[in-house]
Amino acid sequence: GRRKLVVGNWKMNGLRAQLGEVEAIGGVAAEHAGVEVGLCLPATLITAASAVSGAAFVGAQDCHMKDSGAHTGCLSATMLAEAGASWTIVGHSERRQDQGESDADVAAKALAAKAAGLKVILCVGESLDVRDAGDAEAIVSAQLLASLPEGAAADWLAIAYEPIWAIGTGRIPTMEAVEDMHKALRSALAGRIGEGKAGAMRILYGGSMNGDNAAELMAIEDVDGGLVGGASLTAAKFAPVIAAA
Ligand code: 13P
Repeated sequence: GRRKLVVGNWKMNGLRAQLGEVEAIGGVAAEHAGVEVGLCLPATLITAASAVSGAAFVGAQDCHMKDSGAHTGCLSATMLAEAGASWTIVGHSERRQDQGESDADVAAKALAAKAAGLKVILCVGESLDVRDAGDAEAIVSAQLLASLPEGAAADWLAIAYEPIWAIGTGRIPTMEAVEDMHKALRSALAGRIGEGKAGAMRILYGGSMNGDNAAELMAIEDVDGGLVGGASLTAAKFAPVIAAA
C-alpha cells in the first residue's frame, strides 16, 4: 500500500517566531508514525526548522533547474539540501502563474532536485475556466505528462493535484470529481511509466483541505494524502488533518 503523505506548504509565511509551530507539528507527526508528514517552508527557515522539526521532514517550495550560476535571487536544489531540506515542491500553480514557469521548466526542476538528493512533490491542476468547460481530466492529465521528469518513480516523486480555484478559497470539488481526477491521473501515469510504478506513486489532493474535509478526501481510493496551505500554519489546525490521514 501507499503510505499517506501529508505536507504543509507555508508559501510566503513564517518567521523565526513560528519555529515553535514547526516543533509542535513535529510532535504531532511523531504521534502518527504511519503517516509521512512534512513542511515546505520559506528557504530562510529551512535550517532552523530542520533542527526542531523532529518526525516531520522539512522541504523547500521551489528550486532552480541549474545547480549554480548567474541567476540572481535563485536557489539551487543543492543549496536547499545543504540547508536541511529533504523534499521540494515544484510546479505549484502560484509559480506557474506568477513566475511563468512552463511544464518543461517544472520537469527540469524536478530532475535538478532529484540530482541533489531531494524528493519532489510535482503540482498540477486546472483553472476554473477549464473545470467549467468540462475537460479538466484531459487537460490536467496532459499537464502532468508534460511536466513529468524522466525516471519518475515513487521512491523520489509524488504528485499533487491542486485545482487552482480551490486554493485558498474554501471551495473544494465534489468527492466524485476528486476521485475521477485522481483515477485519471494514475491512468495517465500508467500509460507513461507502467502500471506497477504508477500504482506505487502517491497522488495528493490540495486546495482548501482542512480538519473538516480531510478525512473524507483522504478516504478516496486514489487520494494518498494532502498538500495543505492555510491549515498547515499552526499545529492546532494541522493536527486534525494529519490525524485524518
Ligand atoms: P490552501 O490549503 O490554503 O487552499 O492552499 C493549498 C495549496 O496551494 C497548497 O500547496
